[in-house]
Amino acid sequence: MSRVDGKTILVTGAAQGIGAATARVLAAAGGELFLADIDAPAGEALAAELQGTGCNARFLQLDVTDEAQWQKVLRQVADHGGLDVLVNNAGIVIVGGIEETSLADLERITAVNLHGSFLGIKHAVPVMKARAAARTAGGSIVNVSSAVGIKAYPFGAAYSMTKGGVRLLTKSAAVEFAMLKYNIRVNSIHPGLVETPMLGQETVAHARLGSLGGTSEADTRAAFEAMAPIGRFAEPEEIARGILFLASDDSSFMTGAELVMDGGDTAG
Ligand code: NAD
Repeated sequence: MSRVDGKTILVTGAAQGIGAATARVLAAAGGELFLADIDAPAGEALAAELQGTGCNARFLQLDVTDEAQWQKVLRQVADHGGLDVLVNNAGIVIVGGIEETSLADLERITAVNLHGSFLGIKHAVPVMKARAAARTAGGSIVNVSSAVGIKAYPFGAAYSMTKGGVRLLTKSAAVEFAMLKYNIRVNSIHPGLVETPMLGQETVAHARLGSLGGTSEADTRAAFEAMAPIGRFAEPEEIARGILFLASDDSSFMTGAELVMDGGDTAG
């Protein structure tokens, strides 16, 4: 398994789901963690859990849509000595037809999923540069996109639009930082359907719309599950292990790349 010993890592959306699994996997692999989320009680509880395993973990309150909060969080990280890895994981989903999607919902999802990732990169990089220059393997930024950042998501266009944006933000940042010789790699990860609270929310919403061939949650869940040729949902830990690989020096020759972990969904 990859290791991140001695690396200081900031994970957004760390309070539950893929973010929490990522924090646990990175902690077990030797990382020092800053856990950022809007959900303070769950974030504090996870930090306490990880401290109990001997990990140096700390919770920081962060709404990724708020630039001033990013600046405050990164000042705290800089005071601690700098940053090696940023995982831009915080995200929300909105399910609904294009004709029914309000401008307010569109702006909200773009602010969290796309602007949040951009602001994270913008404010983390100055805090990563010195340490990246001093290390052979350098820094790493991992942006959590989605299988539907690559393929269509009918009745989820607002979501897929932001995840497609994250994919190209990743590539532009990767090439820009390589040109600037920052020694900071930037890659995206593209999970298929993962068993988290977000998936539960999507299942309820699609069942209400009848947009996946049924109006019961059981039918919707079965239709979702059938999307991946592998025939099941991912566990959050399976995605977390991909994030660990991109965070670690094992992926030292990868930048601007897409790590697809979708049970074959986008392959066929
Ligand atoms: P989740 O809803 O279970 O957890 C998301 C976390 O992000 C929560 O802790 C929430 O409090 C936090 N968050 C939301 N808005 C925030 C904000 N403005 N600032 C800071 N934190 C905020 O979701 P998840 O399934 O764990 O998803 C994590 C990431 O993976 C998201 O970017 C999501 O789009 C992506 N993803 C999920 C799936 C899936 O099937 N679950 C598939 C592909 C990609």
